[in-house]
Amino acid sequence: MADALLAQDILDGAAVRDRPNLFVIGIFDRRITFYSQQVRALSLVHALKELGYLHANPRIAVVGGGAAGVTAAAAAALVTGSQVVLFESADALLPLQSTTDRRRLDPHITIGRRTTRPIP
Ligand SMILES: Cc1cc2nc3c(=O)[nH]c(=O)nc-3n(C[C@H](O)[C@H](O)[C@H](O)COP(=O)(O)OP(=O)(O)OC[C@H]3O[C@@H](n4cnc5c(N)ncnc54)[C@H](O)[C@@H]3O)c2cc1C
Repeated sequence: MADALLAQDILDGAAVRDRPNLFVIGIFDRRITFYSQQVRALSLVHALKELGYLHANPRIAVVGGGAAGVTAAAAAALVTGSQVVLFESADALLPLQSTTDRRRLDPHITIGRRTTRPIP
């Protein structure tokens, strides 16, 4: 079994070279699903908190209101109690999911190769 990632590994994997305090979620990774992006977003915020980046009254901006950005922004707001600014270029959050004919998060959303059973 692979070793669990340490907080520093997560930050190293998300950091942008020569841009201190700028992190990306999943851009350099191969498997991108709604679930994987949410896990990455929560892992990043947890790592930032653990390594002391989210000190008192941090100024936090998140660019992109998709699965990753919305999750990261919500998590950052929860763990810091600070206001988080979320920038989204579309008219609404989660625009990629807005075309589903059932609801925003389709009940048949797939996780990896497995399609989930409809959520009631
Ligand atoms: C047709 C299709 C079907 C899919 N089906 C599934 C599925 O069944 N199950 C599943 O798990 N995944 C599915 N996916 C993948 C899933 O949509 C992605 O994994 C998920 O959307 C990734 O989330 P994200 O936040 O990383 O990126 P995105 O959802 O792409 O969000 C990025 C956001 O950033 C915004 N943005 C970009 N540039 C800027 C800027 N300069 N300023 C402000 N905002 C900006 C965009 O408008 C967008 O809202 C599907 C994708 C597609 C295209």
